[in-house]
Amino acid sequence: MITIKSSREIELMKEAGRIVAYAHRKVREAIAPGVSTFDLDKIAEEAILSQGATPSFKGYGGFPGSICASINQVVIHGIPSKKIKLKLGDIIAIDIGACYKGYHGDSAMTHPVGPISQTRALLLEVTKNALYEGLKFAKPNQRLSDISHAIEQYVSLYGFSVVKDFTGHGVGAALHEDPSIPNFGPAGHGPILRPGMTLAIEPMVNIGKSNVRILADDWTTITSDGSDSAHFEHSIVITAEGYLILTKEEENLNVQK
Ligand code: MG
Ligand code: MG
Repeated sequence: MITIKSSREIELMKEAGRIVAYAHRKVREAIAPGVSTFDLDKIAEEAILSQGATPSFKGYGGFPGSICASINQVVIHGIPSKKIKLKLGDIIAIDIGACYKGYHGDSAMTHPVGPISQTRALLLEVTKNALYEGLKFAKPNQRLSDISHAIEQYVSLYGFSVVKDFTGHGVGAALHEDPSIPNFGPAGHGPILRPGMTLAIEPMVNIGKSNVRILADDWTTITSDGSDSAHFEHSIVITAEGYLILTKEEENLNVQK
């Protein structure tokens, strides 16, 4: 069942989203060669706790970290580790969730570690743009799969593939709520979007084929063909006119994409 959030709930989700964005900024500022994903996890966790929220991911399904840190061919769910250190030219997807007064925000972005290859730069640009291509259809009276379709169509223009085994989702009092939001498929299907729906839209894009596999740690998800992958995500609320991004810092409203 898809819940419609009250204005009070949306205010709490804005604060959760602001805290997620704040944690993202702190992590982004720390990204450099030699830094471990464990270090980034601690930075995010401290940022979240300092704002009176708790990390949504820690302990979720047994996940050990406060963030997911996924480098290069790792698609999602990379477990923070002291042994995994950033190298010049890497790309790293950071996924952060925070829970504030019972409501979650969830957002991911992929960063370059110093100068990166042209192909990796294009992957980051296309994946980020794909999120906004999908969001063009995040408005009342559209069908949910209009978002999915727009994402896949845009990504396919560049010969990249969307991951099909993982999806976006509703978000709110639970980190993952209905509906599931695939990043592919025909338009015109699924529930009709209504004001007050809160959704996490999150394209995961591979340079090669869409297939992924999960490593023996039961979390780390990599591309089957070893190609690079990127991930961007925002939590949004459907409004009367369109949508509002919840996972951003207010002062950055006009600059942060
Ligand atoms: Mg996420
Ligand atoms: Mg998510």
